[in-house]
Amino acid sequence: MKITSIKTGATKGHTMQLWVRVETDTGIVGLGECVHGGHQAVAIIKDLTPRLIGEDPFAIDALFEGIRRSLVFEGGFAGALITALTGIEIALWDVKGKALKTPVYELLGGKFRDDIRVYCDCEVEPGMGMSEIREVVDGVMEAGFTALKIDLDMFAYGHTHEETVWYKKDKYNMTPSHWEHERMVELASMVVEAAGKDFDVAADLHTRLDKHSAIRLARDLEPLHLMWLEEPIPPENVDTMREITQATSTPICAGENLYLRHGFRDLIEKHAVDIIMPDIPKCGGLSECRKIANMAELYSMPFAPHNVASPIGTMASAHVCATVPNFLVLEFHWHHRDFWSTITDGGNIIKDGKITLTDRPGIGLELNYDVARQHQYPGTTWFE
Ligand SMILES: [Mg+2]
Repeated sequence: MKITSIKTGATKGHTMQLWVRVETDTGIVGLGECVHGGHQAVAIIKDLTPRLIGEDPFAIDALFEGIRRSLVFEGGFAGALITALTGIEIALWDVKGKALKTPVYELLGGKFRDDIRVYCDCEVEPGMGMSEIREVVDGVMEAGFTALKIDLDMFAYGHTHEETVWYKKDKYNMTPSHWEHERMVELASMVVEAAGKDFDVAADLHTRLDKHSAIRLARDLEPLHLMWLEEPIPPENVDTMREITQATSTPICAGENLYLRHGFRDLIEKHAVDIIMPDIPKCGGLSECRKIANMAELYSMPFAPHNVASPIGTMASAHVCATVPNFLVLEFHWHHRDFWSTITDGGNIIKDGKITLTDRPGIGLELNYDVARQHQYPGTTWFE
């Protein structure tokens, strides 16, 4: 089997959802998705296509690593180049699974579990009272989820930034005021109270604090038993992250903007976090993220992938989650996008807060090109 062409299209979903279609001389077509690579990833895939035409699509790891190593001067450790390669990698897994009439999880070593638990990223607004918070939490529960995540930093800032002393004072300063600190604790407390003990709550800080503010907040949140507190500071600051993690019993989670095993190695080996969260359709793809999860397992660290992908990238992520023992929970970030259930032939793939893997070959979902194109990303071409 040989690769005959690689084509892309892009949809405006949570971000630019970039579809990568690998076509072969057998007529088998694989579809991958990558996120956060933007127009750069589109251009990189176009550039790489002549190198891939005529290659064996089964040699997934060798193709990925061969191209990556040849482009280290162009940024072969992170960023849009890795994201572009990731989109191709996922499409190659889809080709291979279809050619072998086998689901991808079987090719990755087989399943530890049939159901992949999913948490819902949800939006709470600044100034919401307890009744409004309950409404948001109830909506997530009614949709069947058993876990959710809130943005704690956005609450402190205010979505318009108008009511926040911290932001008005200096938007680059990472030290929240006393009022802002109390407000973050208050919001998390209200959400946890509304959710109850059978429901898990995580809170994201988007790297917006400094060290002492992060430690103070994490400690004040300890009685809430959060599922985790996410990225209090930038994760590339490994030693400082470790100090925060060691200073609190609130689990610290990070890694949504790191790439490859190289990006996670120090974080894992130094126990700088409690939980890692690679974005699978961004940071290296299925092979690489399975290896990252395996590295983390050696250090007793759960694997809770970040995910803003459509059902295609989400299902691709679910295949990895099924094949590693230390999987915790996978993100869902399309709660208010009504085309989640119509953009593939799988309908709503999340039922009762879980994705159940099927025995369909490959990734196991086909894109509904008509629906996807209704949301075509501005300034992109469509599988030309
Ligand atoms: Mg995050």
